[in-house]
Amino acid sequence: MTTELTADVCVVGGGPAGLTLAVELAKRSVSVVVLEQSGHFDRSFRGESVSPDSVWLLDKLGVLGRLEGAYQQMHGMEIIDSGSTVLRADFRRFPYPHPYPVEMPQPALLSALADLGQEEHPEHFTLVRRATATRLLRAGGESGPVTGVVARTPEGELTVRAALSVAADGRFSKVREMSGLPYTKLPLDRDVVWLKLPFPSEWDDRTYRIRIRGDQHGLFIPTHPDSVRVGFNIPKGGLKELRAQGLPALYERLGGLAPELAESVRSEIRSWSDTSMLDIFTTMVPRWSMPGLVLIGDAAHTLTPILGQGVNHAIIDAVTLAPLVRDAIDAGGDEAALARAGAEFQRAREGSVAKSRALQLRQERLFALHGVGGVGRRSLYRVVDRSQKLKERVLGGAYFQLQKPGPHVVEAQSPSTRV
Ligand SMILES: Cc1cc2nc3c(=O)[nH]c(=O)nc-3n(C[C@H](O)[C@H](O)[C@H](O)COP(=O)(O)OP(=O)(O)OC[C@H]3O[C@@H](n4cnc5c(N)ncnc54)[C@H](O)[C@@H]3O)c2cc1C
Repeated sequence: MTTELTADVCVVGGGPAGLTLAVELAKRSVSVVVLEQSGHFDRSFRGESVSPDSVWLLDKLGVLGRLEGAYQQMHGMEIIDSGSTVLRADFRRFPYPHPYPVEMPQPALLSALADLGQEEHPEHFTLVRRATATRLLRAGGESGPVTGVVARTPEGELTVRAALSVAADGRFSKVREMSGLPYTKLPLDRDVVWLKLPFPSEWDDRTYRIRIRGDQHGLFIPTHPDSVRVGFNIPKGGLKELRAQGLPALYERLGGLAPELAESVRSEIRSWSDTSMLDIFTTMVPRWSMPGLVLIGDAAHTLTPILGQGVNHAIIDAVTLAPLVRDAIDAGGDEAALARAGAEFQRAREGSVAKSRALQLRQERLFALHGVGGVGRRSLYRVVDRSQKLKERVLGGAYFQLQKPGPHVVEAQSPSTRV
C-alpha cells in the first residue's frame, strides 16, 4: 500500500542533525516529516562527546534541561606521550558560558529531541520510524529539482512531497548518492577500534585521556555513567591483520598504552564482537545543495573523531539552516527562495567546518609521527602546555567558535552532573 504525506520539509535521517533541524523548523511553524530507517535510537560508541558550543546551543534550545542526569561534564584533558605528561588542559579556566564538553549517550540526546518535537510542536513535527529513503522524487525527469522522497516502510511505500528535502542521513548518505552531488572522500592513514570497559577506580571521571607511544595512540573517554570508551588506532584497513593476530595482540596493544586497563581488557573483551571499528575518513562536498535539496551534518561534511566535532557541526548546521528555511518560506517558498537559503546556509557554515577539519588533520599528522618526529610532537605539546592563551587558541578552533567570552552558566544539575 502506498501512503502519501505532504510537508514543507522532508528530512531524511533522525540523527542529531535531522532531529535538531526538525525541532527548530517545527518551532517556527514549518511542517516537517522526518524519515528514520531505524526503529529505535540505540547506538553504542557513537557521538557521545558533545563539544561546548553545542552544549551551549542545546541549553538555549531547551534540550539540555530535558537531559538532566543523562550526561557528565568533562573538566579536563591530559596527553601522556611515551610515559610523560606533555599537555594538560583545564576547561574550567576557559572564559566561556559553557566551557565544558559533555559525555552524553546519543540515544538520550535523540530521545530528548524527538520528545521535544512531539510534545511541544505536534502539529508541525512528524517522525516516521522504520522508514528508509529509497528514491528522490524529481520534477521533469532525472535531473530536475527534488520534490520529495520515497521511503520503504514495513507497511509499504511512503511518499513525502515537500518543497525542500534535507539529507541528514549520515556519513554514508544514500540521499547524497541519489542526488548526484559530487563529493570527495579522503581516507586517513588510520582506522580506530573502539571498545568499552568498566571505569578504572584510579582515574577521575572528568578527564579525557590521550596516551601515545611512537605511532600508536589511544583515546580514553569517560562514558556516562560508569564505563570508559577506548579507541586505539590501527593502520588503515588493518583490522583483518589485527584479528589474525588474535585477541592477545589487542590485550598487549592496550596494556602498553594504559597498563591500568590491562586486566579489565582481558576479562571484558572475550571476542571481536565486543569491539567496533570506525573507518576514519573525511568527506568534502563542494556543493551542499541543489534545487529542492540540502545536505547537512555528516552527509555534507564527515569529520574525524578528534575533539567530538561530528555532533557539534550537525547541531550547528541545523540551527543555522532552520531560520533560513523559515525566511525562504515567508518569501513565497518557491524553488529560487529555497535555493538561496541553501546557498546562504553553506556560506555561513563551511568556514567553521573547514576550521575544525584543519585542526583535526593537524592532530592526525601529529599522532602519526614517531622517532625524531615523536620528539618534535612532544616538544610542541609542551610549548602549548606552558601557555593558557595557546591552549585557548588551539582548542578554540573546535570548542569555541560560537560562544562569546562571558561568565560560566551555573546549571541546575542532578547529583551525577554537579560541578
Ligand atoms: C564509532 C563512532 C564514534 C563517534 N564518536 C563521536 C563523538 O564522540 N562525538 C562526536 O561529536 N561525533 C562522534 N561521531 C560522529 C557522530 O556520530 C556524527 O558526526 C553525528 O552523529 C552526525 O550526525 P548526523 O545527524 O549528521 O548523522 P547520523 O548521526 O549518522 O544520523 C543519520 C541518521 O540517518 C539514518 N539514515 C541513514 N540512511 C537512511 C535512509 N536511507 N533513510 C532513513 N534514514 C536513514 C540513520 O539511521 C541515522 O539515524 C562518532 C561516529 C562513530 C561512527
